[in-house]
Amino acid sequence: MKCTRCRAPAEVQLRAHNAAFCRPCFVFFFQRQVERAIESERMFGRGERLLVAVSGGKDSLALWDVLAELGYDATGLYVGLGIGSYSALSHQKAAAFAERRGLPLRTVDLENEGGLAVPAVAQVTRRVPCSACGTMKRHWFDAAAIDGRFDVLVTGHNLDDEAARLMGNVLRWQKDHLARQRPVLVPTHPRFVRKVKPLFLTSEYETAVYAFMRGIDYIVDECPNAAGATQLVYKDALNRIEAASPGTKLAFVKEFLRAAQPAFAAADRDPPRDCERCGMPAYGSLCAYCRLVDEMQRRATPRASAPA
Ligand code: SF4
Ligand SMILES: [Zn+2]
Ligand SMILES: [Zn+2]
Repeated sequence: MKCTRCRAPAEVQLRAHNAAFCRPCFVFFFQRQVERAIESERMFGRGERLLVAVSGGKDSLALWDVLAELGYDATGLYVGLGIGSYSALSHQKAAAFAERRGLPLRTVDLENEGGLAVPAVAQVTRRVPCSACGTMKRHWFDAAAIDGRFDVLVTGHNLDDEAARLMGNVLRWQKDHLARQRPVLVPTHPRFVRKVKPLFLTSEYETAVYAFMRGIDYIVDECPNAAGATQLVYKDALNRIEAASPGTKLAFVKEFLRAAQPAFAAADRDPPRDCERCGMPAYGSLCAYCRLVDEMQRRATPRASAPA
């Protein structure tokens, strides 16, 4: 197998792209693919300040690496979820990467933010951990972006994440979610910044290969809560379809964005208002985070027993 670009022996084959690459050409191809997504979707420009949400995993660290290589002003944001040794190790990986590359990293530790670590919140509110985690991450990503006066919040969601999310949204026809499933979300509230996903057309396999070739030391273990997540069932189904018909995931996401997403976006609900308590965007009187905190406090406080 020869490299599609330079005819040297190829190290990696990408069936969805009908191409194969040697190591230097793959690194070039990957970075160029990310750059093209940024430019074609007008995600951000050179003068803007980016806050990159990093989990210590391959996707977010590969993305941060590409952004730094392309010369963007990219600061990392690590949110410590308090999920035992998984969180400790993922923080270590993110911090070590930042130090080695000389990149700035901000850290928010949920246990220090009122003792709201994911396992405790999930247990007390009886939510599935990923639901509690999602609400908390979204809140702290938004808050950190606003507090640090960043222009853009960048996340490492890749093609596999987007295809699985799309499949879940379509299977249940979640119109609200489909209306907001885009690689660029423009702010609909003064306390939202633009949100972008530069890896939305880049497969998980490609980011894994890129991370390996660039010597990025990332956390390989999945979060222990991932095992029960429905997202993995969708990913597995999509991987089987992809094996039988390479390029399906890419077409699924691309064609949705081109042909169907605008119709959902046009019918989207009203923009959020201010949360009455914290001022963050809210679709009711309180934002999702304040509602979660309330629920946590209500359940954690034992009711006074009735007098005899
Ligand atoms: S698997 Fe669930 S709990 Fe773990 S980091 Fe992801 S969303 Fe959070
Ligand atoms: Zn080559
Ligand atoms: Zn609030």
